Amino acid sequence: MKCPFCGEKDTRVLDSRPAETRIRRRRECESCQKRFTTYEVVELPMLMVEKKDGSIQPFDRNKLMAGIFTAIKKRPVTAAQVQAIVDAVESRYANEMRTSVTTTEIGNYVMEQLKCIDAVAYIRFASVYQDFSDVAGFINAVGELSDET
Ligand SMILES: [Zn+2]
Repeated sequence: MKCPFCGEKDTRVLDSRPAETRIRRRRECESCQKRFTTYEVVELPMLMVEKKDGSIQPFDRNKLMAGIFTAIKKRPVTAAQVQAIVDAVESRYANEMRTSVTTTEIGNYVMEQLKCIDAVAYIRFASVYQDFSDVAGFINAVGELSDET
């Protein structure tokens, strides 16, 4: 890692601290002794999402996050919880080394998690994401809930 101050090529790592998906490193330049911080980001394989109409697009974290936020509107679900769900989706498919996934799979996985957090948000998300074309699917989802509560 080149020193941003003097351009010296040899910099020393003082410490490394793993954060959620990135590693923070404190470095010191061997030449000018100045210190700086670098972040190492884990590069995940590009995840492609197949939509119901067969079209394919890259997984968009923000889009999924926005979808979940719509579902949790005025519900006692925190932004951190939403973040955690999206992180879980991302790392799940990365761990499985998947390069493609369907919107239905993602939707089901998000629903599984929302279900444990907030029933109303779960139903809202389900009705949008699943696009319950068949009424039976929706009644099933609601039924599953009342069985559990
Ligand atoms: Zn330097």
